[in-house]
Amino acid sequence: MATATREEGFEVHDAQVLSKTRAFLDECRSFKEMAQAVEDAVHRNEEWRGKRCINLLAPEAPTSPKVRNLLAAEIGTRAAEGHIGRVNRWFAGTGYIDEVEALCVELLKRVFKCKYADHRLMGSMLGNMAVYWALTEPGDVIMSAAQPVGGHSSNRGDGPAGFRGLKIVDIPFDPVELEVDMDLFRKVAPLVRPKVVGLGMSMTLFPYPVRSMVEIISEWGGRLFFDGAHQLGLIGAGFFQDPLDEGAAVLTGSAGKTFGGPQSGIMVWNDPNLTQPITSAIFPGLAATHQVNRVAALAYSAAEMLQFGQAFMKQIVANAQALGAALAERGLNVLCSHKGYTQTHQVIADVSSFGGGIAAARALERTNIITNKNLIPKDKPENWDSPSGLRIGTIEVTRLGMGPKEMKTIAGFAARVLVEKENPETVVKDVMDFRSAYQTIYFCFENGLPR
Ligand SMILES: *Cc1c(COP(=O)(O)O)cnc(C)c1O
Repeated sequence: MATATREEGFEVHDAQVLSKTRAFLDECRSFKEMAQAVEDAVHRNEEWRGKRCINLLAPEAPTSPKVRNLLAAEIGTRAAEGHIGRVNRWFAGTGYIDEVEALCVELLKRVFKCKYADHRLMGSMLGNMAVYWALTEPGDVIMSAAQPVGGHSSNRGDGPAGFRGLKIVDIPFDPVELEVDMDLFRKVAPLVRPKVVGLGMSMTLFPYPVRSMVEIISEWGGRLFFDGAHQLGLIGAGFFQDPLDEGAAVLTGSAGKTFGGPQSGIMVWNDPNLTQPITSAIFPGLAATHQVNRVAALAYSAAEMLQFGQAFMKQIVANAQALGAALAERGLNVLCSHKGYTQTHQVIADVSSFGGGIAAARALERTNIITNKNLIPKDKPENWDSPSGLRIGTIEVTRLGMGPKEMKTIAGFAARVLVEKENPETVVKDVMDFRSAYQTIYFCFENGLPR
């Protein structure tokens, strides 16, 4: 069915992957066959990533079976724009949708012990956009963390903060402790008087001095915005700091990371004066029909968080600490060994002696262990594509019921590949054998706690 036009323009995607796909589609004898190809690829992913891999991606979490079901629910085919309640909707027929959305908002308020919550944005990238829209004007100065110390692009020049036209000054960090350098912050902040300090960390091991930072910037009316994309579940369950309680004006986060729900953005705050600017940035600024299936799944996962969050998050952190120690014992250079490696779901290793982050992540992928390359403090921001670090997270392995003993086993697999340079072909068999015994999702109403 050769119908595609053949002009080769500029593509950001891998041109080979796209051209291979075009060639495949050309060979298909029907549109049905094309549709089948989509289903097949989804199935292959489920069989491999879902059943045979040790997924150690820090921003990834498997949801409960019920949350996955809700993502395919009929309600997701319905259009609901605007705010909850008949007069606030553009469309009629939204009575039950109002119920679901109100449950979501009120459950989120319970999890985060806050006055206001929003559930409509698809990801916390958009949540951050809404925050910068609500709290800043173009040309304002903000402070945020550079990528090599863990900062995320959404608070930097190439993300929402940059799109808002903000001037960005780095939050000073101690590269060894991986914590905010408060002595330097005390000197720099009064000189640049940031309107907002955006504390958004993708590499995050320890709590941040939110209270002290707020004290300093409130002198000129500056506000702290905590982008807790990664730590959201830990915060909700009380296993990390509580940014709102410590003086942050807004907390945003991704529900698909430690929170263990569907990929979604969450925003919570306490100041009634922020409600109008934030919610008008959300609607009609950034969302119209907002995937009510996702909202239903989010509401359900908030109830799971209330029931199982404490046990789940406690185990995630214990597993991360055990994995850090076990990897170090097997010869990896794990950061912050002098203070117990981590207080979150993440472990960071400097893998420059194994060829850097890309080579290490590829070698591990060949053994069905999934991690990601990461910038670490010794890297330059412009070297984002050849970083020295590897970021490892324990959300999925924990939800599959693994504990510190299994972390030792996993560290052993990783060391065989990276340190002992064993052939990935032999290691992958052992990885699949090991993984086959862990196929149940825990910390959910269906299956309860791991035995
Ligand atoms: C992952 C991440 C985001 C983006 O979250 P999405 O939900 O994927 O949009 C924003 N900020 C930080 C710090 C992150 O780690």
